Amino acid sequence: MAGEAQDDCLFCKIVAGQIPATIVRETETTVAFRDINPQAPTHILVIPKAHHQDAAALAAEAPQLAADVLRETQAVADDEKLESYRTVFNTGSGAGQTVWHAHAHVLGGRGLEWPPG
Ligand code: IMP
Repeated sequence: MAGEAQDDCLFCKIVAGQIPATIVRETETTVAFRDINPQAPTHILVIPKAHHQDAAALAAEAPQLAADVLRETQAVADDEKLESYRTVFNTGSGAGQTVWHAHAHVLGGRGLEWPPG
């Protein structure tokens, strides 16, 4: 069922505290933690605690939760004192998605080129 924790999901395990992560923010519905393979001086992932497989599913299944995630990306940027930053949702393997639990990347602390690769 949409939103239920999945036994084989890495980010559900981080939410459950079964896998360590450097958590920088937590709310009732979201967790933010540092990416294990940072692509910028600040690279933080914001995830809903509930399992939704990607951003599109999250928006369709739990729009309020999608708004919570977006609000937290701004909170992370404020905490990190980022004047400019990029929020990325990779959706689908062709776009680089490798973890099938919706997550926003917050990238900042260096110049970011456009278009991305
Ligand atoms: P995706 O490629 O958009 O799905 O992003 C998944 C992200 O999760 C990648 O940037 C990975 O570096 C990151 N990642 C994978 N495993 C871990 C972990 O255990 N802790 C923190 N970040 C992780």
